[in-house]
Amino acid sequence: MQKNSLNKTNAPTPSDIPTRAPSSFGSRTSDAKARPATFARPTRDAVTTIRDDGSRLFLHPADVQGRFTRARIWSGWVLIAIYLLLPWIDIGGHPAVFLDIGARRFHLFGLTFAFQDIWMLFFGITGLGFCLFLVTALLGRVWCGWACPQTVFLDHVYRRIERLFEGDPTARRALDTAPWTATKIIRRGGKHLLYVIVSATIAHLFLAYFVSIPQLWAMMHEAPAEHWAAFVFVALFTAILYGNFAWFREQLCLIICPYGRLQSVLIDDHSLIVGYDAKRGEPRGKLGIPDAGACVDCNRCVRVCPTGIDIRQGLQLECIGCAACIDACDEVMTKINRPKGLIRYDSLAGFRGEKTRWIRPRVVMYAALLAVGAAVATIAFSTVRPANAQVTRLGGAPYFVDDHFVRNQFLVRLVNKRDHAQRFALTLSDPTLIVSGWNEPIEVPALAEDVRPLVVQAPLEHYRGPTAIVMTLSDPDGTFTLTQTINFTGPAPSTLKKKTP
Ligand code: SF4
Ligand code: SF4
Repeated sequence: MQKNSLNKTNAPTPSDIPTRAPSSFGSRTSDAKARPATFARPTRDAVTTIRDDGSRLFLHPADVQGRFTRARIWSGWVLIAIYLLLPWIDIGGHPAVFLDIGARRFHLFGLTFAFQDIWMLFFGITGLGFCLFLVTALLGRVWCGWACPQTVFLDHVYRRIERLFEGDPTARRALDTAPWTATKIIRRGGKHLLYVIVSATIAHLFLAYFVSIPQLWAMMHEAPAEHWAAFVFVALFTAILYGNFAWFREQLCLIICPYGRLQSVLIDDHSLIVGYDAKRGEPRGKLGIPDAGACVDCNRCVRVCPTGIDIRQGLQLECIGCAACIDACDEVMTKINRPKGLIRYDSLAGFRGEKTRWIRPRVVMYAALLAVGAAVATIAFSTVRPANAQVTRLGGAPYFVDDHFVRNQFLVRLVNKRDHAQRFALTLSDPTLIVSGWNEPIEVPALAEDVRPLVVQAPLEHYRGPTAIVMTLSDPDGTFTLTQTINFTGPAPSTLKKKTP
């Protein structure tokens, strides 16, 4: 006869393993009255973390070890390191990612974009969207469980701080109900103080993506009133981070996040999910019971779940795909010498014993949309110039006439998107027109703008009436050529003849 030899903290105890498996846990209220539980008893009809009276049930998920947990720790730390380091890494004289809103410039891995290029954001956002759709159709909620900042910071930073100060989940639950002794005040106070410090650090680094590290450092050494907008932003963001990670936690995934809501339409029976093999596990029951399935109903998978669900009740919106229950169940199966994988990554079709189809209409459609978007984006990016120019007509009369000329006046806004100074030489398609104020190329400093008046005059002897002319701005070194059509306006030539003897 096999023995359940689990003896770790949070491991199932004999009282957790029923002599005969119930088909469900029933209502939380009736269960709670029947037997005080050390964990929430989920149902499919309600969110575990919200009690029937609407109050919050604060979860303390059990610790878990295993291959997915280890992999998630590594991937989480890599992602956190990327977040922390990007503002410090210099590429081409700028941080690797620097959204310089003040100067209306965006530096991304050595490329510089001007505010005028913001239309490309459309391709970035739609590309990310289709990418997420495709990944979700194939791999389910892999983003939520492995890469979402909410999960990464909560699991790998804030929960670790909590464990450091308050101990394992059993100790934390005990501390929740303990009176406010000096020990509790020190533990809770230390945890929350560190939460605030970490939240402020994350908020400051987030601001560094918009102002750069040297500027952030300078701002931190000046009075808040000198940079009140940045100060308010950091203070608010720190408060939001602290409130979210100290208290709100999984509620963000369950209540607020729109991506979680989209899951049911993005995945199908062949998407990869975390699921329970009911064919193998049911009927669940204590070890040694004849005809019992592989699940010993230890509830270990429920205890480790950060959103408080029971994966054995089927695919649920609350499952963020963190794979903690896979490691927990594998741990149990190993201890009782049964094959791992009772809870595993598989598709709904796979759990039914069918073959998972990776190539399906929705996968092909998402991939095609992504490919089309990528092709259009590539073409669009190739049209981006290192400089830009906008011509507007000066306010007031559209033209002036004197004894010798018809005159039009414009304003030209020159934008240099490069990290070095660039010159703008001007030529017009009509050689009879005379340009004033632009006889030499105009030099615009690196990443700067310049606004210059442009006076175009048509000698009366050459004037043939209003016409369109092509203005060409080019760098004498040949790095760019910009063309723009402007309208040269004036009176009808017959009118002029009457005026000029
Ligand atoms: S599925 Fe695995 S972890 Fe969950 S109760 Fe059954 S045996 Fe325990
Ligand atoms: S059911 Fe499993 S994978 Fe889903 S959130 Fe809970 S522990 Fe994570």
